[in-house]
Formats: sequence, C-alpha cells, structure tokens
Amino acid sequence: LAFVPAMADASSAHLTAMRPLSSHVAVIGAGASGLVAARELRREGHNVVVFEKGDQLGGNWVYTPEVESDPIGLHPNRTIVHSSMYQSLRTNLLREIMGFRDYPFAAKEEDEERDPRRFPGHREVLKYLNDFAGEFGICEMVRFETEVVFVGLVEGGKWIVKSKSKTSDEGLEEIYDAVVVCCGHYTQPRVAEISGITTWKGRQIHSHNYRTPEPFRDQVVILIGSSSSATDIYRDIAGVAKEVHISSRSIASETKEKKPQFDTMRLNAMIKSVHEDGSVVFIDGSVVVADTILHCTGYKYHFPFLETNGIVTVDGDDNRVGPLFKHVFPPALAPSLSFVGVPWKTVPFPNFELQSKWIAGVLSNRIALPSKEEMMKDVKAYYSSLEASGKPTRHTHDIFDYRGEYADWLAVQCGSPVLEEWREQMMLTVAKNWLVRPKTYQDEWDDNHLVLQAYESFKNGV
Ligand code: FAD
Repeated sequence: LAFVPAMADASSAHLTAMRPLSSHVAVIGAGASGLVAARELRREGHNVVVFEKGDQLGGNWVYTPEVESDPIGLHPNRTIVHSSMYQSLRTNLLREIMGFRDYPFAAKEEDEERDPRRFPGHREVLKYLNDFAGEFGICEMVRFETEVVFVGLVEGGKWIVKSKSKTSDEGLEEIYDAVVVCCGHYTQPRVAEISGITTWKGRQIHSHNYRTPEPFRDQVVILIGSSSSATDIYRDIAGVAKEVHISSRSIASETKEKKPQFDTMRLNAMIKSVHEDGSVVFIDGSVVVADTILHCTGYKYHFPFLETNGIVTVDGDDNRVGPLFKHVFPPALAPSLSFVGVPWKTVPFPNFELQSKWIAGVLSNRIALPSKEEMMKDVKAYYSSLEASGKPTRHTHDIFDYRGEYADWLAVQCGSPVLEEWREQMMLTVAKNWLVRPKTYQDEWDDNHLVLQAYESFKNGV
C-alpha cells in the first residue's frame, strides 16, 4: 500500500511565520501517548491538563493481576481493567527503536533494579515511562483518578470536557480550546464470531484478561489468532495445558501439523462451529472437545466519552476511526480535536512523539494544515487506495507498509530530522532473526554493529 502521493510533499511550505498561539488543551490519558503529547504541547507554549482515570501513569504498561468481571469482555456493565499486559510479557520491539527519539530507552546496566535486556519485560517499560515523566516534569500536569466522561462541541469551536474524580462525588465541567485523545486502543476486545457459541458449555476468555498460564492447567484450549500476543500466550500455556489448538486464518489445512517444540501444541484451520456437547468443529472437518476458547483476536477503537454529532465515527465491525487526516485530525474539526496513537503495526512511541509535535505545532500556528477540503480529499484518496490494494477496511490504521514514509512525512511537517536509517535496518534484522530463531530471537542476535550505531546516535541526540 503506497502512501497517498498527493500528501507526500516533503517541502517545508507548511511551516508558517504566524504569531504563535497558546491554547488551553485537554489531553485524555497518561499512557505513553498522553505523556509525550503533554510534553510537546507544553514545549510549544500551550496550557495543558492531562486527565488520567488510573492512579498512576503508564496506561497499558501498568500490569495488574486483576481481570474483568466478564472474561471475554463483552458485557457492557462489566468491571473494566485498562491494561492487557500478562505476567510473562517481554517487549516485541527492541528497546533501541522502541523509545522516544529524544529520550532513548537505553539499557541501565549499572542499576541492579533494572532489566537491561534488549527485549525487556513490561516492568522495565513502565519504569522508563516514569523516568520520562520525571525528566520532563509531566506529573504536575496530570489529574490522576479523574475520568473524562464526556467531550462535546460548544459554541466558538471549543470543547466541553466533563470529568469525574474518584475523590469527589461532584463532576466537573470545563471548557477547552482543544482536546487531544490519547486513551489507547487495547482495552475493548474484538472477538471471533462462532456459530453455535451461545449454547457451547465451555469457557471463553479474551487475551485482554489473560495474565498467567495456571488457570489452563490440564485443559484442552483452542487459541484463536496469530498476533504476537497469541504467540506469547500459546508458548506460556503450552507448558501446562493438556492440548493447545491454534486456530488462525493464516493456517492453511495442508500446514496442519504437530509443532515439534511442544508436544501439547496443534495447528488447526478456522473454527466452523461449536456444539452443546463441548465439541469444536474446524472447517477441515476435524473435531476437538475443548474446555476453553481463548480469543487473541485484537481490540476495537472505543471513545465512549466523545460526542462529535456524527462527524467522527468509529465503525465497530470495520474498526475504522474516521475521517482522520493522516490518522490524526478529523478535517471538519481540525485542529481543535486530534488523536494520538491510532495507527498500528508501527513503532508506537516515536510515532506518538511525531504526531504530538505535529499537533502542538499546528495548534500554535507554527505549522499550517491544508484546507478542510484538501484534507478530506486526502482521506478519500487514502480510502480508495486501500480498496484498490484489496486491504479490508479494518486495516485502515495498519500502517506497516508505509510506516517509514509516514514517520518521515510527520517529521518534515514538524521541521524535525527524519528517522535514522539504523532504525529500519534493526526492524528488518529482527524480523529475519525471528524467522531463523523463533524461540530465542529475543536473546540471540547478529546486529551488534547496529546497536553501536544506535548508542552513537543517542549520544549525539536528535
Ligand atoms: P495506553 O497505554 O492504553 O494509555 C491510555 C491511558 O488513557 C490509560 O492510562 C487509561 O487509563 C487512560 N484513559 C482511557 N480512557 C480515559 C478516560 N476516559 N479518562 C481518563 N483517562 C483515560 N508497544 C511497543 O512499543 N512495544 C511493545 O512491545 C508492545 N507490546 C504490547 C503488548 C500488548 C499485549 C499490548 C496490548 C500492546 C503492546 N504495545 C507495545 C502497544 C502499546 O500499548 C503502546 O505502545 C502504548 O503503550 C499505547 O500507549 P497509549 O498511551 O496510546 O495507550
């Protein structure tokens, strides 16, 4: 999928010499995206309030053993747990490329409390985000335990933000010039539709509520999905379960085989139907009687607080948030409403950083946006290119094919240097390493020359 050429303009005509504006900005969420958004907005002279419903920063990286009251995550009144982290999680990206560009996620070998591995565990990422917030004094902008329950348009293009604090019964209503949505998109489960599921007697759980393998001991488990979480989780439970059957769109029936590394593991085709007696029938006709179906089937965008009179919609089944110019600004509401972190299959933190710089610069008048009509035209051209390339709508925000061009385009908009070459080289080397050493790629590698380049570039700064 190509980046829409009309918008790939690398000139600096969008940088303006207009008088800078300072806005009163609400940032929703203090995960990685909200933290860097707050920093960039303040750097650009805006007055920022960050709303965080949790009692600490870090969002998805705040591991908790708690799970939701409905393990599959469908009941609208279930208790909600924000994080999807499981106990054994190590990053799926190398720390050298994962961190913010001007605050690298460098290993702290000298500190015994830290995890110096190149693919560290989740606690190390949370520590890094706390270091980042400490370094830039971000916590003073954050209202913890304060949930945004409503965001809506008011006269003059401003926004009303209604919030509820845990420590008070009274809600608060305030007016902001702009709202930046940074609430993450790994909490609202997406599940597979399965014929017969309402009468099936087994247990269903979504990976959002997976923490440890123990509850699966001696069970027959059907795991649906093929993402990196699915891979981690099947490795986790294969050691304790009786059998783990992996069912995925990407497994063709001819590749069905017993995986050598775990005796308990089987690859299966897609599920055709399930039945009252506990049986699960696959499209190739094979049948398994199972205890649990574990859905590792991803997440949906969900902005329950946002009311834009239908201007921005989230297509539930197709998982498209739109229309969004370059996945950030809804043309009709730009620049007062923006989103950080919508794209996936990219390197999230540097992406959040660039999107945030762009938003902050646009709000202060330093960077000009195209007209609303031009932005809308760009969105439509993008949708047409998706369709022409045969990509399903649910992949609207999957930017894997043009992740480098996207990041460079944002950098040019902001007047920042484009991404260093070693980053892409490292991504490619990891992908190759993963193929060669699927079980040990996080601990064995051949790209030390790139590590040296990365640390050299960290020394020199962006
Ligand atoms: P979040 O981290 O989800 O933060 C959003 C914050 O908004 C939360 O603190 C939440 O409490 C708050 N919030 C939400 N709604 C409201 C509201 N209404 N009012 C107030 N506050 C609100 N990325 C990587 O770079 N490397 C990895 O190895 C990696 N592994 C991952 C593994 C898993 C299992 C998952 C699910 C994701 C992984 N990711 C990884 C992606 C990761 O989630 C992102 O990198 C990043 O942490 C997302 O940050 P965020 O700020 O956008 O969202």
